[in-house]
Amino acid sequence: MAPTGTTPQPRPIVVSGPSGGGKSTMITRLRKHYPDRFSLSVSHTTRAPRGTEKNGVEYNFVTKEDFKKLVDENGFIEHAQFGSNLYGTSVQAVKDVAEKGQTCVLDIEMEGVKQVKKTDLNARFLFLQPPSVEVLEKRLRGRDTDKEEAIQQRLKQAEKEVEYAKTPGVHDKIIVNDELEKAWAEFEAFCVPDETERASRKQ
Ligand code: ADP
Ligand code: 5GP
Repeated sequence: MAPTGTTPQPRPIVVSGPSGGGKSTMITRLRKHYPDRFSLSVSHTTRAPRGTEKNGVEYNFVTKEDFKKLVDENGFIEHAQFGSNLYGTSVQAVKDVAEKGQTCVLDIEMEGVKQVKKTDLNARFLFLQPPSVEVLEKRLRGRDTDKEEAIQQRLKQAEKEVEYAKTPGVHDKIIVNDELEKAWAEFEAFCVPDETERASRKQ
């Protein structure tokens, strides 16, 4: 039992899966319907902002030097290289969400997943799988945010993500993101298991 005066923390949810698989789409929708219940852990990255991305919202956009400084200060729960860029979940990012009493949602790649599994975060793991490589490629191109080199690199990485997800027990739930509404219903049910709570979601 938790000591008197402490509130048990909701278990964080780790969402992973190939880039272009629909993680941001699902998490944005979750935040829209449950703004007081879920918050994204805002990661650090050395990549440049895309489209309408804002510093401190989608990511904390930092230089390689600043990123490495935070690594040296043990400021990350996990961090990894993806393509030519560094990404990491800071201790502070998760703390910020916990202080609001909300469930922390992490959108991270495979190496980060492995590292989180070694921590005491006690997270639940959800994998979003695209229906096929062809569909993934189409969605990445349709998103129109990445250059050709980045698309190729993401497709290559996608194979590794899907392969790793086959390891028994790695994920609590695998959702094939084929038809959006169907995938969303599964995603929502995983994040909000209580049907009554789902019925009173914000529209
Ligand atoms: P990720 O965050 O995993 O990189 P996104 O959420 O950015 O992926 O999705 C990639 C692209 O695919 C976006 O343009 C998004 O609108 C689109 N998309 C996501 N899910 C579906 C779906 N089920 N059907 C069609 N397009 C989708
Ligand atoms: P993108 O550049 O498309 O935003 O993200 C590329 C990949 O990096 C995605 O698979 C995303 O899940 C992952 N990613 C984003 N933030 C983090 C993080 O903090 N740690 C790790 N390990 N991966 C991250």
